[in-house]
Amino acid sequence: MGLGMGRVFVAGSINMDVVATADRHPKVGETVAGEAVLYFPGGKGANQAVASAKQGVPTTLIGRLGTDAFGRELRSFLAAQGVDLSFVKDTDGTHSGTAIITLANADNTIVVVPGANGLVDADDVAAPVLAKGDVAVSQFEIPLPTIAAFFRRARAAGATTILNPAPAKPADKALLDLVDVLILNETELSLLTGTELRDSDDPLRFAEAARTLGRGKTVCVTLGKRGVLALVADQPLLVPGREVKAVDTTGAGDCFVGALAAQLAIGKPLGDALAYANIAASICVQRMGAAPSMPTAQEVEDTLS
Ligand code: ADP
Repeated sequence: MGLGMGRVFVAGSINMDVVATADRHPKVGETVAGEAVLYFPGGKGANQAVASAKQGVPTTLIGRLGTDAFGRELRSFLAAQGVDLSFVKDTDGTHSGTAIITLANADNTIVVVPGANGLVDADDVAAPVLAKGDVAVSQFEIPLPTIAAFFRRARAAGATTILNPAPAKPADKALLDLVDVLILNETELSLLTGTELRDSDDPLRFAEAARTLGRGKTVCVTLGKRGVLALVADQPLLVPGREVKAVDTTGAGDCFVGALAAQLAIGKPLGDALAYANIAASICVQRMGAAPSMPTAQEVEDTLS
């Protein structure tokens, strides 16, 4: 791990989040008048690619968009953030990943329709050529067999693999065995290990659960404002959270993943990369939104010094 100047490759989802705000949620069959409609670029793959690219590390996103207006909008947003989109395919006969969110009295309802994200396949992830020192990142918003194919190729090329198994769903051991660094929150750790865990539990309980996910693997359990508990070479390492005034924690986990991937690609040791990603995510939570709240390398360095 960490052999000089590599690139980050993220295989993952790209969504447009459409948010309608209203005084209250409609009942089934009812129509209510809303107040505003807001459009936010999202999807875990896109968010993590933006977080990495904003660190100044060459970052390629592998994914799919529909040939619709959201697809064009998302492409131009991601290009402006410095993400390489050469391997994002426009796909006919489907739509770009879309989340329809209604927000009333700080409660939301969400319907996510994967559309093109559900069609990302083994050929898509085989298209870019990875090399030793690169970092391959994925999440659970594209088909799991595609992630396995991506990681097998990455491993064969000598790249480091990072999996963020979110949103939580069961995964087989064969996929987890292809992972060098697993980054997950308490909910995802509970589901993958079948252990009942709570936010308030002692971090060492998380370390015990993480240990069951496979020896030798680095497991990072993100603990919100408590920071990160990492299991590195089977030893627990707690990186305490930075005390900040959190405004919006959307995208914090994605920021952590993207920043960590970027640090490993430029050859930073794991301990330093964890501390850095923890600071990056603490900056992200102080701003509204997900992709637009990812910090630059300069902002993280200013906070570190
Ligand atoms: P997720 O959104 O995936 O559940 P977390 O809430 O665990 O992820 O947050 C990911 C990381 O973001 C944390 O490990 C920490 O580094 C940072 N973070 C999240 N919330 C806060 C907070 N309130 N204050 C400081 N850092 C935070």
